[in-house]
Amino acid sequence: MKIGFIGLGNMGAPMAQNLIAAGHEVTGFDLAARPEGMPMAARAAEAAKGADVVITMLPNGAILQSVAAEIHPEMAAGAVHLDCSTVDVDSARAVARAAETAGLMAVDAPVSGGVGGAAAGTLTFMAGGPAAAFDKVKPLFDIMGQKAVHCGDAGAGQAAKICNNMILGVTMIATCEAFALADKLGLDRQKMFDVVSTSSGYSWTMNAYCPAPGVGPTSPADNGYKPGFAAELMLKDLGLSQMAAEAVDADTPMGAAALTLYRQFVEDEDGRGMDFSAMLPRFEKRGRG
Ligand code: NAD
Repeated sequence: MKIGFIGLGNMGAPMAQNLIAAGHEVTGFDLAARPEGMPMAARAAEAAKGADVVITMLPNGAILQSVAAEIHPEMAAGAVHLDCSTVDVDSARAVARAAETAGLMAVDAPVSGGVGGAAAGTLTFMAGGPAAAFDKVKPLFDIMGQKAVHCGDAGAGQAAKICNNMILGVTMIATCEAFALADKLGLDRQKMFDVVSTSSGYSWTMNAYCPAPGVGPTSPADNGYKPGFAAELMLKDLGLSQMAAEAVDADTPMGAAALTLYRQFVEDEDGRGMDFSAMLPRFEKRGRG
């Protein structure tokens, strides 16, 4: 396929490289990044012109909407705008409406799996949009990822992503505060892991991404809490989930508490640039006051 790829940062660049390696004709555009070995256009509209699929991998919904306004007029009827960024549900739906008006198809397909998954081609895509559009881009999902779930209409991919990450943020905090409590009760961390990872408190954060160094599988905790998945990205996703919850009047008290804690950690403490599991040393240092 002829593919335009806009947004070649930490995630976009390796995703685009995998498409090139699989034989697709990719033209990139980024305001700043210049990945090696990739044909680049001078403007986003130029990368989009005549493409079968234009992929965007951008920081937020406002940027996505401005890029969409620039590229949609250049895209051929029936082409697909595949957005893989994590953005608010409203922006995803606005882009889908704009695409339809322009005679295009849109798919919102945020990813799980991080920079490692992008490089290895093992991302999970959660997609929203028309079935015909999903089917058209499915071969690209198969190259960039290991699983793609068609979740429903426009915005359903973003909805699935923020619900998943709300669970992830809340669960990471619960795992970290429990470790810090166990420390103060004199419980050995390895014993804590051995029990919880095989009992009803188990979770992905405990079993696959344990926040305690030297315990369980290798994780960012074993590398000085270097990300991994940075605390500020978790803060972004928790903000999106609260924005969505407000829009539809959903009661999400645990998600709201997680947002408050990650905001404090990133904005007022030393959390920026740390992995999101660095909540454990944060709790370790604190008392109840
Ligand atoms: P990044 O900041 O590394 O890359 C974003 C790129 O977009 C940058 O290179 C920037 O120059 C470019 N850009 C910004 N505005 C632009 C514009 N108007 N036109 C063209 N290019 C523009 O971010 P990332 O880590 O690659 O994340 C991209 C998206 O993926 C985000 O929405 C993020 O939430 C999501 N995501 C990231 C991860 C992760 O672990 N990094 C995991 C899952 C999802």
